[in-house]
Amino acid sequence: MTRPYRSLWERLKFRRRNRQATRYRCPVCGYYGPFMPFHTQDGRTSFDTLCPKCGSRPRHRLMHLVMDILNKQYVFKDKKALHFAPESFFRDQYRAFFQQYVTTDLVMEDVDFKADICNLPLEDRSFDVVLACHVLEHVKDDRKAVSEMRRICRPGGIVIIQVPITAIETIEYPAPNPYETDHVRCPGRDYYDQFRDLFTRMETFSSGDFDDSYQLYAKVDWSGYPNEHSPYRLPLSGDKHANRIAVYSV
Ligand SMILES: [Zn+2]
Repeated sequence: MTRPYRSLWERLKFRRRNRQATRYRCPVCGYYGPFMPFHTQDGRTSFDTLCPKCGSRPRHRLMHLVMDILNKQYVFKDKKALHFAPESFFRDQYRAFFQQYVTTDLVMEDVDFKADICNLPLEDRSFDVVLACHVLEHVKDDRKAVSEMRRICRPGGIVIIQVPITAIETIEYPAPNPYETDHVRCPGRDYYDQFRDLFTRMETFSSGDFDDSYQLYAKVDWSGYPNEHSPYRLPLSGDKHANRIAVYSV
């Protein structure tokens, strides 16, 4: 896996080697300069992806920008949040954002409590903000999971969901695919719509809603499907794929 450059000296050398490359701005850490390619487990390369300073990828940068908007709208400092499978570099920020910030996951060790997203040991209406990013593509009964997130969220609260959008229409797999980090489906551009009926309102944010200088797209070739390792996935044309986040109101 590609690691960002942690020292200033390494970053300066990287910038010098890539002085002709397009410069981008990382909203997470404030870095300005070229982003690094990211080499995925299945041998693909995603270009202009990794911030060399903080390691953010397009999906993290989009989430950061969306959370800034939502913080202004919902005033997080008065709110209690539950974060599933928390990304390490968002933890400190979210801890500072919210009055109370609680983390959970089924398998991660360094969380406040372990729980199955489909069967949460929590009271109804116990949180104001519930976040699950890159979680539901691993959960077979995703409707049950979203219903649980809805159940524990207070009226007036929000449920924030992000999944990798890797198809036009969602494709369900018969079993978790170990070659796709155990994803049980390929979420399509229609994915978030299926949970609309559980909430009073749905709003979505996409890479295209923000300035291009943040580079919020997956710049990767997803044309070579289906293949031996991903027999159910379909080819997706283009070399720039938008990330999307759904915000559901309870
Ligand atoms: Zn950064």
